[in-house]
Formats: sequence, structure tokens, C-alpha cells
Amino acid sequence: MAARPSDYPAPFDWRDYVSVPTDPEDERIEVGVLIVGAGPAGLACAIRLGQLLEESPETADKLGEVPVAVVEKGKQPGSHLLSGAVVNPRALRKLFKGRKATEDFPFLQEVHGESVYFMTSKQAFRIPAPPTMRNHGNYIASVSQLGRWLADEAEELGTMILPETSALKLLVQDGRVVGVRTGDKGLGREGEPLGNYEPGADLVAKGTVLAEGTQGHLTGVALQRFGLESDSPQVWALGVKEIWKVAKPLDRIIHTMGWPLRFGAKYREFGGSFIYPMGEDMITIGLVVGLDYRDSELSVHDLLQEFKLHPKIRKLLEGGERVAWGAKTIPEGGLGSLPKKLHAPGVVFCGDGAGIVNVPALKGIHYAIESGRLAAEAVFDSLQPGKTPATPGVLASYDDAVRESFIWKDLHEVRNMRQVFGKGFFMGGALASMATATKGRMPRGTIATEPDAEHELFRTDRAKSYPAPDGKLTFDKLSSVFASGNRTRDDQPSHIRIETDVPIRIAQMWVNMCPAEVYEIVAGDEDKETVSVQVTPSNCVQCGAITAKGGRLTPPEGGSGPEYTLT
Ligand SMILES: Cc1cc2nc3c(=O)[nH]c(=O)nc-3n(C[C@H](O)[C@H](O)[C@H](O)COP(=O)(O)OP(=O)(O)OC[C@H]3O[C@@H](n4cnc5c(N)ncnc54)[C@H](O)[C@@H]3O)c2cc1C
Ligand code: SF4
Repeated sequence: MAARPSDYPAPFDWRDYVSVPTDPEDERIEVGVLIVGAGPAGLACAIRLGQLLEESPETADKLGEVPVAVVEKGKQPGSHLLSGAVVNPRALRKLFKGRKATEDFPFLQEVHGESVYFMTSKQAFRIPAPPTMRNHGNYIASVSQLGRWLADEAEELGTMILPETSALKLLVQDGRVVGVRTGDKGLGREGEPLGNYEPGADLVAKGTVLAEGTQGHLTGVALQRFGLESDSPQVWALGVKEIWKVAKPLDRIIHTMGWPLRFGAKYREFGGSFIYPMGEDMITIGLVVGLDYRDSELSVHDLLQEFKLHPKIRKLLEGGERVAWGAKTIPEGGLGSLPKKLHAPGVVFCGDGAGIVNVPALKGIHYAIESGRLAAEAVFDSLQPGKTPATPGVLASYDDAVRESFIWKDLHEVRNMRQVFGKGFFMGGALASMATATKGRMPRGTIATEPDAEHELFRTDRAKSYPAPDGKLTFDKLSSVFASGNRTRDDQPSHIRIETDVPIRIAQMWVNMCPAEVYEIVAGDEDKETVSVQVTPSNCVQCGAITAKGGRLTPPEGGSGPEYTLT
């Protein structure tokens, strides 16, 4: 039975997540500028604001006792950050210009060599690195560690960081964003208050910066509230990665394309792997696959297990030990899928939340940092005499600054590179080469995307080739969740919204797609056309894939989710 996830939309209404402030006025927590998300974008924004406020005490005075606050749903900054990561240092250099040198950044090492391979199941053919994959002058980092370092820098400049705090509702008054409401803590499975119940609070601010990263919950709500969603819908990829302690250091970064993904256009399997050294004794290995795929048996988690068995890859890991695991989505729509505007009255959108990612280069960190820096400058400017961030149009200076920055130039050059792979690996590869050679001038215009959930699903026997977990080189999903440090309380209300009675094809797709084993088909339903899906939300590592494929991830109680330290 053919099925499209978009025909079974999640029971989710964005209007439920928009509210006026409800706490009595004297109980609201007032801050100057409120930033949602302690990732590279949010923390760069906090740092730049701190620098500007240091130079302008009169503006700082206007912002009250807490001029800049950052709310973060993870246990601490960095807990929910996951990336490759090869970092282009240009945005950090700009952010810390005159204050810090490249040696001060928490990088693990410079990229000294790189190889790109085209893979078949048995062989690996070295091919020249396409220009977008050249990383000379870039550095390897753990984004989780980078996040903690940036958070310390922001705190030194006066930012207040509120960890374990989920921003759940967007506070909008008279058509202007005036802050967020945080989620309750200590609720039972049915939403009943437990002994440790703490209600959420209204955090009101003169300006709000949404830097929530991929699948940002309030970013999605705000784009719908203000009618800013792009005409070409956002699309995503899912990345799953592991960190290994290994016997032999890796002397270069490796990217692969081809196997274990299939080439035929009908499969829509676009992606590749990355393998990066992390110092002398660790490497990170990950696989990224576009979520427009159609086979309900595709599991990125299990494809990565299969990939590790390739003779070339196995050699790198042999004798080693897996020490960490994680998963996260990447917005892949590029320039054409950016919101119509990057601001609305009282609010701006930064980083992955806005979709600012260069997909062929697998780079988002320096764009997130640059967008956060530019957002800080626009918000600071809107706080000068005669203006407020809530005045309609005042924050348009942020859009202008992004358009004039390297962000726009880079994204413009690669604007069709992801879209062309909808035509299959070989045709897509040819068109991508043309786009690269002409710096994006060909193919002309911007090719529109289709939502990931709109692709009709079919089933192959793909899962038959996934290796059985041996607990040494290959693992099952539950051991992976354990390796993420996940600490979600299992008696809290479910934060996953899905239609639970769906055609079997959709249910199978969710079961296979979720890297954390959150979904199961109810026992006894396996042979039915329509089945019930059982959800175990406490396994969820908040990767965001379910939102792309027909459901909706909302933020669970603050402090839930993975505890990434090396990813
Ligand atoms: C597998 C993979 C490999 C990648 N490799 C690279 C690479 O090698 N180089 C590179 O440059 N980029 C890479 N990227 C992309 C890069 O990681 C992102 O572009 C970058 O992290 C985006 O930064 P951000 O600050 O916008 O969002 P994030 O890093 O996602 O940070 C957002 C933060 O906001 C918090 N948050 C979200 N919503 C809420 C809420 N409602 N309330 C409170 N807190 C909230 C989150 O917990 C998180 O801490 C990769 C991404 C993936 C998934
Ligand atoms: S349930 Fe959580 S871990 Fe699973 S796909 Fe959805 S967001 Fe990712």
C-alpha cells in the first residue's frame, strides 16, 4: 500500500505555542535581549552583544539587570551540540578580532590532508576532492566542546546562561515578539504535577534571538505566525556519528560518496560519510543521508553500522573502542529555502534554525557564528535612541547584513547543488559539477524543493543487509542511545507528536528512520494495512528527523536528552 507521510500530519497546531504573557506582571522575568539556544549562533550573538555593551554602558543600562540571557534546553551548553566537525575559522576570527588569535580557539588540530573516495561495497576509489570539499586552512573541533568554550566567553562578557530550560511558547503581544515562555518541569506522563513540579515562566525581553538550530521549535512557530515560510520548503538530512578511540592516528580527513547508498533516482538516496581525526587517539565517523529518501527500510543508524564493515573502513577502527554516539538533522534546502525574511517585529532568526547551511561543503558552524554576530549588531543598533527591536522593519538591517556577507555569497553559489541530486546520483553529480564550474550560474534560477514528507514510500529488503550488532564494531540502537548519555526522564509527558494509526509503510519508515528506537509497531499489527505505533519518547535524542518525515518534535522538559561531550 503506497503512502506519503504528509497525508497523515502530526496532531500539532502552531497556535498552541503562541501566547501573550500570562504570568502577573511583577512575576515575569525581565531580561534585555533573550537568546534561545546555546549553539554557535546563539553564543556568538551573546558574545558580540557583550562586546558592544562593554563599549556602550548607556545601552547596557537600558537593558536592566540582565542585559543578555541565553536559554538552553540541554543539561549544559554543548550537551545538545553535534557536528562533524571541520570548522572554517573565518567567522570566529571576525568575532574575536583584536581579542583572540586562532591558537586560542578550542580546535583539536588543523586539517593537513584530505581524501575523497567513491565507494562500492568492496572497494574504494580515490577521486579528486570537489572544490566544495577542500578543507585546507580549516580546523577539526568538537562542536560540543566549542559550545562550552563559547559559553564561558559569553559569561565572561556578562551573559546569563539558563541551562535545562526549554523555550516552549513564543510570547507575542500586539503583533510583536516579547519573549518566550519556558516549559514546565516535574509533570507526570499524563501532564499531572508531581512532587517536584515547577511551572514554566514568562521570560520577557526587548529583543529575542531565535538560534535554536535545526528543526527549531519556536522558529517553526514564528515563521508560521508571521507568514515567513519560504515558497521552496525546507528539507533535511539525518547525520549519525560515532567517536572511536583507535590504536593508530588518522593523518587526514576522509569523505566518501556512493555505497552504502543506492544510485537509482527512484531511491532518492543522497549523502555520504565523513571520517575525521580527533587528536592522536580518536576519530569521528559519521554518515549523512537526505530525508527525502523513499525506502521505508532505510535506517541511517544501521547503514553506518554496515559502512564500518567495509574493508577500508574496518581497518581504521580495528582494535578500537566506540566511546560516543549521536544523531542530528541538517537543514539542506539552502538559499531557496531560507525564510522570506530573517526577522519579524522583536525577533531575528539565526544559524541552522534559519537554514543557513552550505550543504555540499557540509559546513554550518561558521555561518551560524557569522549570522549570530550580525544579529547581535542589528539588535544592538535597534536599541539606540528613537528605536526598539519591536518597531516593525527596524530589524531589516539584519537581513541586509546577511545579504552583504559571505553567507549569502557562498549559499548563492551552491544554491542548486542539493536539489539536483533529486535526479539520482549520476545525473545529479553531472549537474552539480556544472554548478561548481560556473559558480552556481548553471543550472539557472533556483530549483524548488519538495517537502521530505511528500515523497511516496515503498519497501525493499534493504534491512536484510544490515549487520547483526556484535557490540564491538557494530551496535544496536539502544546501545547507541546509551552511548549518547541520554538522560530523559521516562515518566514525563510525550514530546513527540505523531498520528499513531497509520499505514504500515509509514510506521515501518518511522521505526527504521529513528536512530534511537522511539517507534515500534504494536505487536500483532505487523500484517495489517493500518497499524498502531507505540512511542517510547524517553529514548529520543532530539535529532529532529521525525519533524521532516511527518511528525513533530517539541522540546521535552529542560535537561532531557543526550549529554554530548565529544560530538
Ligand atoms: C552530522 C553533522 C555533521 C556536520 N558537520 C559539520 C562540519 O564538519 N562543519 C560545519 O561547519 N558544520 C557541520 N555541521 C553543521 C553544524 O553542526 C551546524 O550548522 C551548527 O551546529 C549550527 O549551529 P546553530 O547554533 O545554528 O545550531 P545548533 O548547533 O543546533 O545549536 C542550537 C542550540 O539550541 C538549543 N535549543 C534548540 N531549541 C531550543 C529551545 N526551544 N529551547 C532551548 N534551547 C533550544 C539546542 O539544544 C542547541 O544547543 C554538521 C551537522 C551535522 C548534524
Ligand atoms: S523520536 Fe527523537 S530521536 Fe527519533 S527521529 Fe524523532 S527526534 Fe530523532
